[in-house]
Amino acid sequence: MTKIKANDELVYLPLGGSGEVGMNLNCYGYGPEDDRQWIIVDVGVTFGDQSTPGVDIIVPDPAFLEGETIRGILLTHAHEDHIGALPWLWERMKAPLYATPFTAFLIREKLRDRGLRDVKIIEVPMGGHVDLGPFSVDFITMTHSIAEPNGLKIATPLGTVFHTGDWKLDPNPIIGKPTDIAAITRMGDEGLLAMVCDSTNVFVEGEAGSELEAQDGLIELIGSLKTGRIAVGCFASNVARMVSVIKAADKAGRRVALAGRSMHRITAAAKHVGLFNDSRAILSEDEARHWPADEILYLCTGSQGEDRAALSRVADGSHPFIKLGLGDHCIFSSRIIPGNELAIAELQDRLADRGVRLYTEKDHPGIHVSGHPCRDEMRQMYAWARPRISVPTHGMRRHLMEHAALARDLGVPETVTPRNGDLVRLAPGVAAIIDEVPNGRLYVDGGMVVTEKGEALRERRHASTNGVLVVSFAMDKRGKIVSDIDVRGIGLPGDEVTPLGDALDDLAERVEQAVNSLKGEARHDDMVVEQAVGRVLKKASQQIWDRRPIVETVILRL
Ligand SMILES: [Zn+2]
Ligand SMILES: [Zn+2]
Repeated sequence: MTKIKANDELVYLPLGGSGEVGMNLNCYGYGPEDDRQWIIVDVGVTFGDQSTPGVDIIVPDPAFLEGETIRGILLTHAHEDHIGALPWLWERMKAPLYATPFTAFLIREKLRDRGLRDVKIIEVPMGGHVDLGPFSVDFITMTHSIAEPNGLKIATPLGTVFHTGDWKLDPNPIIGKPTDIAAITRMGDEGLLAMVCDSTNVFVEGEAGSELEAQDGLIELIGSLKTGRIAVGCFASNVARMVSVIKAADKAGRRVALAGRSMHRITAAAKHVGLFNDSRAILSEDEARHWPADEILYLCTGSQGEDRAALSRVADGSHPFIKLGLGDHCIFSSRIIPGNELAIAELQDRLADRGVRLYTEKDHPGIHVSGHPCRDEMRQMYAWARPRISVPTHGMRRHLMEHAALARDLGVPETVTPRNGDLVRLAPGVAAIIDEVPNGRLYVDGGMVVTEKGEALRERRHASTNGVLVVSFAMDKRGKIVSDIDVRGIGLPGDEVTPLGDALDDLAERVEQAVNSLKGEARHDDMVVEQAVGRVLKKASQQIWDRRPIVETVILRL
């Protein structure tokens, strides 16, 4: 192992995921300040909302990492908030990727979709080991709501960090092995420097519950629905849940049809790595079209109300082979991801309106379990791992602070709660935030990666509430207007008292007055004319609509 030099430090730097659920990007650095080597853990996305019209994908800003020595990028599991940003950010990091087979399969597809074919992806077996410069990394088998979840034991000459990744304790995960408790306890026995740990469910007492409980819940509910079609909405990436639904369908004498691109994609990935072998119960789309109603179950994407996903198309009657109506059932075997409340409520309303009966975890608690640790599981984890330093991650600010308080209650000697961009020195000495590096979010807008302060989105937001005015006219060499003044309004209203046409005519007159009142010289300068037009139209719009539309002026010089 590398020898410790005088100025060597072990640092931790979150660039995403600390202060939010989503967009995880964690960096570990080793060496003196001016010559650090890095490994990166997870490169995830978060999703846009009403405040980012037209922007669906948001990624962390990796500016700080450009030009740094990156030994490798390690991916803990295949959820979008952990791997989704790779296609957008890999070229700015250009380091080899390390992932277990299921995750690697999905990453490969993702990169291929973006035309990135030459990325080196090293498949690490579950429980595998990689050496990356001063970092000696073991993949620790965890349980979560996806196939192949891993924590990382990151050993360095200055101490060992356990990066838990997303986890819960599940003695019966259905797919894969239970948590490698022995490896975690061993870290505790050997003396663990720090644990960087999931905070998602820190406010929930008790335990998340096992996938087996969800399976039992689904078997009971699906078995009780004797007539009509059944659709089940869940996350495709939760292979265990898919297996449970298929089992429940089988017991109830129903065959299963998959609906939604990611259902097929994940099934292919799971089959590829040997996690999903029995597909006898699955019908083709063609068979599904003609199958009797009380002998079929559809496994659907779109439980979060996503626009183009299967459930949404079922709800508006446009799905190619699933038609649900009076007497049919829709089971939501998933939780509401914060931010999706409205979309889900709207989807459920549309389904209910067709006569479909709804079943959610709220009224049928047994049909879903969370993938993240509740307080009892966190207590258990701290008892096994016994870190000297607790570093909460994967949560909003309140989750991180509560997690640190819990760790202190459990007797953990040191806690640090960095925000994205805070550089934490883990060793030597007492853990502390020693610097803040450039950080932020980038938006994927129209297939391009742009800064969050970019003009395009700002203009779209402004236009969406204020509208747009487009003014065009021709001027001759003397600076005289020699055409009609055309004013068009986009997104601006008219009514009987003030018809839109009258308002725009009025604006055209004001433009004419404003331009004519400019002095001779000024009229030859497009910029000066545009500013004068902008001023008068903004003022008039304020009077007419109480709005400040974007004004676009087109001057044709003859
Ligand atoms: Zn996850
Ligand atoms: Zn996550």
